[in-house]
Amino acid sequence: MDIRKTRTCEKCKAVVLIEHVRLYPKPDGTNLVVCEKCCDDLKKLNKETNSALTSKTTELPSPEYGTFFCIRCNYTFRVDKAKAGLTHNLQCPYCGKTDRIKAQ
Ligand SMILES: [Zn+2]
Ligand SMILES: [Zn+2]
Repeated sequence: MDIRKTRTCEKCKAVVLIEHVRLYPKPDGTNLVVCEKCCDDLKKLNKETNSALTSKTTELPSPEYGTFFCIRCNYTFRVDKAKAGLTHNLQCPYCGKTDRIKAQ
């Protein structure tokens, strides 16, 4: 293989023939010399980050309150649903118990 006709992929360090080398534009204006596979990976990655960014801006978490009811002491209370996740055991603010809470 003629060494002058090859380049080293800057991402996976694979030696690729010049005709299979792709230039991937970086945010700083320079180009990344990569193989075809890495170029595809970079494009895919870029698309995913972009869609993640747009979904982040469109889906702003709005505080949503759920009403819960403690059967133990007939006490109704409201909890931020974002905080009342699976990791958080809902606790009755009146009796402090978690075992008789019902969502309404
Ligand atoms: Zn590569
Ligand atoms: Zn209670």
